[in-house]
Formats: sequence, C-alpha cells, structure tokens
Amino acid sequence: MKYEGVLTKMRSELAETVQYYLIFESDFIHVNQLLDRKISINFLKFQCLGCKLQKKVFAQGYCYNCFSSLPQAGEWIRSPELSKAHLDIEDRDLEFEKEAQLQPHVVYLANSSDVKVGVTRKTQIPTRWIDQGAHEAIEIVEVPNRYLAGITEVALKGHVSDKTNWRRMLTNDIKDLNLEDEREKLKGFIPEEARNYYLAGNKETEIKFPVLQFPKKVKTLNLAKNPFYEGVLKGIKGQYFLFEDGTVFNVRSHEGYVVELNVN
Ligand SMILES: [Zn+2]
Repeated sequence: MKYEGVLTKMRSELAETVQYYLIFESDFIHVNQLLDRKISINFLKFQCLGCKLQKKVFAQGYCYNCFSSLPQAGEWIRSPELSKAHLDIEDRDLEFEKEAQLQPHVVYLANSSDVKVGVTRKTQIPTRWIDQGAHEAIEIVEVPNRYLAGITEVALKGHVSDKTNWRRMLTNDIKDLNLEDEREKLKGFIPEEARNYYLAGNKETEIKFPVLQFPKKVKTLNLAKNPFYEGVLKGIKGQYFLFEDGTVFNVRSHEGYVVELNVN
C-alpha cells in the first residue's frame, strides 16, 4: 500500500494502549496497524504548513517567513510566561491570541524519563502527555489563562526539570514514581497568583504505548539528510516511530515534509 502526503504530528487517542493516526489530505493511516510491517519513507519535497508553498521548513512545520509572522508561531507558544492577551496587548494578532491564551490551562508533571513540568491548554490533555511519551502524568494547577500557567511553570522549573531525555524515553529506561508525592513537594513553590488553583485531588494518568520491542540504542532518522529509509516498525511512542534496527523517526520534527509511505 502506498500513501503520500505532508506530515503533521500524529493524532492520538488514549485507550488501553494509545491509538495513533497519520492524517493526510486524502487519506488517513491507523499507524498501530503498521506494527511488525516493513515500511519505507521517501522524502519528496517540503510544503510549509502555513503558506503551503514548497519552501524549506524552518520550525514547527513553517517556512521562515510564516514562522516569523503567523500568530500560531508567536514566542508565547514556547514561552507561555510571555503571554499578554490578558492585558489586551497584541503580539501578532490579538483576536487569535485572546482565543488561544484566555482559556483554561494546566500545569502538569509528566514522567517520560525524569519528572518534568509543562504547560498545556486543558483541551490538550492527555494529547500533550502522549506526544511527550510520558508513561504517567498528573495535573498540578488549572488556571484561567496561559500567562498564569507560564509563571507557575517558570517558578517550578527551579525545582524540577523541564526537559525530557528522549533517548531514555525511547529505550524505555524509565521508572515509576508516585506523582502525587512529587506534586505535593512542589506545592510550596507555586506563585501566589496561582496558589488557589492547586489541584489536590487529581490522580495520576497512566499511559501505555504500542511497542512490541524497544530499541537498545537509538539512531535518529533525519529526512533532510537521508531522504529514504526502510525498516520494520516495532513501536510508536510519543511522536516517534521505533524501528527494529534501532532507527527512531520523530514525526513531529518532520512536519511540513511531503513523504511517500510504502507499507509491505
Ligand atoms: Zn510558509
């Protein structure tokens, strides 16, 4: 079977094990069904997710021009504490920013290799945790806007990591922790403005990924350098394909790449 389209991050669904979907313009692939099959990936060209032109992807699936001008690529996306819509201050498009920032946000702890703190819109839970390859996660606060979530994250970063060790995540070099205890330890560092939004009652969410066999050592596939790859798919975790030979492919970091997928 042959599929062709521009890559965007996989959609996912929390079930007994996570279900993954690749959405192409005229097709979708239930990626779980490709497990144990030989697939090939052939990079054809770029297609910016913003302007749709055949321009080299700079970041987040956007060409440099779109990345530096579109409201959905503003700096407050990566640094939520820079959000200003609650002050009625525009970054690139105030209407867009109000809609995106002035809605419930969650600061959470996710354990994918070590415990890390992160921020997401409430509607993105548990998607965000799945994307990070977290095997367990828990909410810390739920606040009414992105700014409050951002300053809470910044305050907690001093006491817990905000990075994932993706090699350990992909080789399943992980440990189970009691995240309710971890949350309790951080409680005192939540900034005053967000303290009333502390979620004491939420329980851990456990996430199981569809993986038949974890790689012992990983090597990353970068389609810009190696435009063709073929291998047997042994698992999906986070936004990664895990292959039998230890090759790992980060779908999300290839957003805006037009590929041909062949399934044997
Ligand atoms: Zn563009």
